[in-house]
Amino acid sequence: MQWETVIGLEVHIQLATRAKLFSSSPVVFGAPPNAHASAIDAALPGTLPQLNEEALDMALMFGLAIGSKIDKVSLFERKSYFYPDLPKGYQTTQLQQPVVGAGQIDVALPDGEVRSVRIHHAHLEEDAGKSVHDSFHAQTAIDLNRAGTALLEVVTEPDMRSAVEAVSFARALHSQVTHLEICDGDLSQGSIRFDVNVSVRRRGAQALGVRTETKNLNSFRFMEQAINKEVARQIDLLESGGQVVQQTRLYNGDTGVSQAMRSKEEANDYRYFPCPDLLPVVVDEQRLQRLRQRLPESPKLRKERFMEQWGLSDYAAQTLAAERATATYFEKAAERCQNATLVANWVMGELMRQLNDHQLAIEQSPVGATVLAELLRRIEDKTLSTTAARQVFRTLWQEEGREVDSVIEQYGFRQVTDTEAIDAIVKQVLANHSAQVEDYRRCDAVKQKKMFGFFIGQTMKAGKGSICPATARQCLLSRLDQASGSEAAEAD
Ligand code: ADP
Ligand code: MG
Repeated sequence: MQWETVIGLEVHIQLATRAKLFSSSPVVFGAPPNAHASAIDAALPGTLPQLNEEALDMALMFGLAIGSKIDKVSLFERKSYFYPDLPKGYQTTQLQQPVVGAGQIDVALPDGEVRSVRIHHAHLEEDAGKSVHDSFHAQTAIDLNRAGTALLEVVTEPDMRSAVEAVSFARALHSQVTHLEICDGDLSQGSIRFDVNVSVRRRGAQALGVRTETKNLNSFRFMEQAINKEVARQIDLLESGGQVVQQTRLYNGDTGVSQAMRSKEEANDYRYFPCPDLLPVVVDEQRLQRLRQRLPESPKLRKERFMEQWGLSDYAAQTLAAERATATYFEKAAERCQNATLVANWVMGELMRQLNDHQLAIEQSPVGATVLAELLRRIEDKTLSTTAARQVFRTLWQEEGREVDSVIEQYGFRQVTDTEAIDAIVKQVLANHSAQVEDYRRCDAVKQKKMFGFFIGQTMKAGKGSICPATARQCLLSRLDQASGSEAAEAD
């Protein structure tokens, strides 16, 4: 049986506002529990919420960036439900008239295809607090620091057809909001959380299948796993004559286990109604005009510019332009080093590897863009071999704040380009391996080619990676030729 997967996402994006959505309480991460709990966000009697204009601006910038329809008036509603981390008993959110209307995000898939994912709408809402289960024995504690912080929830149409497409979309969205600097993009801290709605249907069928919703995924990898698992589960169910039940599920990325949480509630259980404490939000053209001017270059335009201006390959431009911080780092280094391709290779290679190994964001890199540029200039002017540059890089990484040239001098990384010095090393290497030299002389050209690699390797090793490979080759070739030449002469 041929099945088609259908996926729609609801994405909670924590807006990088200084204050909460409806109060002036500051948003501080890692603060002691409840240090920033706000009376307004807990809806204590006598308090009155007031919309944070910065959050509204951020939502509008998102809408403008993806070309959404933006209605003049939007409304805040109360969604009533009981939960310990929501002491006021309702979440202030938007349902009927969200701030951002329909739009579209074009997603480049790994195979080069482009998939357009329609955005149903995006709305502003407040986040809930946190239930803390591991602070007290057999008790749950409540931390309200997060309660009332501003979220932008982006809801897609069910336009994705595989886990890979959903993850590609998620990455594109991540890239978009970090570019706009409306979210810090830190998935591990829950700055972006994905709810994935998944259904399957027979290929060719028009009607959508019954869907499940897996909530609160906070990594691309877990998202891909959760979707694939859920698709397999639904297909199994249907093929064995069962039915998919509409329900909310949880996926535990650490154990790989997915489980049902509750069957889907109806929207009317929430008793949505317009919040009487908040005025309708009116957005005028002047405001939109001001925000349009604040919009940064989109990742797509940036990618095109990187190819044009810096001569990067499609792949390099795509990789480096995807995240604003990476793009900024690359450009800063490229301006100082000029060999943009070399910079691109080092940023995507050595730098990314180290950042990954140390779980650091590029902004936290101990080797900044200017320092990397300095280092690469030393490759360009042949002071350093690539191997030595890598060692200097690691030293700079460990000894943050050092200058490139001082590291090169201190550890003697300077590349030896002096032909006489290199020839002396070569001579020594050949003397140490006279048996191999004899072999070499007896071999045919094909074998000699193979053996040459051995001599080069030994020479580079003897030179501790700091000698110029091209010069070493030359010296080796001429000495080996000499050797076989003189032998031939003797044989005569
Ligand atoms: P609800 O009001 O229950 O949240 P919505 O109709 O707003 O439901 O849809 C929520 C999300 O689920 C949207 O992203 C939508 O694209 C997606 N979705 C809806 N129906 C399906 C389906 N049959 N299969 C996959 N995704 C779906
Ligand atoms: Mg929903």
